[in-house]
Amino acid sequence: MPEAAALTLVPTPIGNLEDITLRAIRTLREVDLVLCEDTRTSGRLMQHLELKKPLQAYHLHNEHQVVPRLLERLAKGERMALVSDAGTPGISDPGFLLVRECLAQGLRVECLPGPTALVPALLKSGFGAERFTFEGFLPTKKGRQTRLQELARETRTLIFYESPHRIVKTLTQLAEVFGPARMGSVSRELTKLFEETLTAPLSELAATLAARPAIKGEIVLVVEGAKHERIERSKYAARDDDDDAEDDGDADDDPAA
Ligand code: SAM
Repeated sequence: MPEAAALTLVPTPIGNLEDITLRAIRTLREVDLVLCEDTRTSGRLMQHLELKKPLQAYHLHNEHQVVPRLLERLAKGERMALVSDAGTPGISDPGFLLVRECLAQGLRVECLPGPTALVPALLKSGFGAERFTFEGFLPTKKGRQTRLQELARETRTLIFYESPHRIVKTLTQLAEVFGPARMGSVSRELTKLFEETLTAPLSELAATLAARPAIKGEIVLVVEGAKHERIERSKYAARDDDDDAEDDGDADDDPAA
């Protein structure tokens, strides 16, 4: 077994409290301090696991302030776990800054495998999972249209995190930019009591969800990648002839060939 890490990223359940590994529980039991996005949320999980540990807030609004002191303590041999409210820390959640600084100081960082919302949503969509791109949250204002247009030609399966109050707007815009027939899959409340996954053309998904009186819960949106022949005909995606020039003509590159 390698030497114990100074900092361990510990994934926590995204809904169902049974989704925590034995190793995650052992790590939370063994560390000196648990850094939490929200101490109340993680406090409830610790209580459920019957663990008592000092908890300290570590979130986007205080990370720059607390990292130097945390590094001093880690360098002296303290062991810490980082958890977010749900899922894997650092995935659309705080974590990046602390990991980068620990590595820069030569401190060992470990990340345990565990729950994250993007993986079950990707696999439940039934779209290609050999190659995919995780886009996290789309920009809400500046840069949104540019990002959507850049992504219209992406051939890998696309995964987005989205809020329930913005999902209809996002599906409508995606249908406009990617084309209404492009397939999408909305996974809501994964691992929870009212979990559901709807898979249909983007325009249909937008209409189905717009017809609901209210959309609640957490959502992952998965969109099928662009098909080459569709890109050729699309009036939405700008044509880049250089791509064709770079094509080495190897039939192995295209599984459909
Ligand atoms: N760190 C988390 C992870 O590993 O998935 C993501 C945190 S991000 C702040 C929260 C977003 O993740 C939500 O807005 C939603 O898009 C997605 N999410 C988290 N839990 C979910 C669930 N149970 N069902 C569907 N989406 C979920």
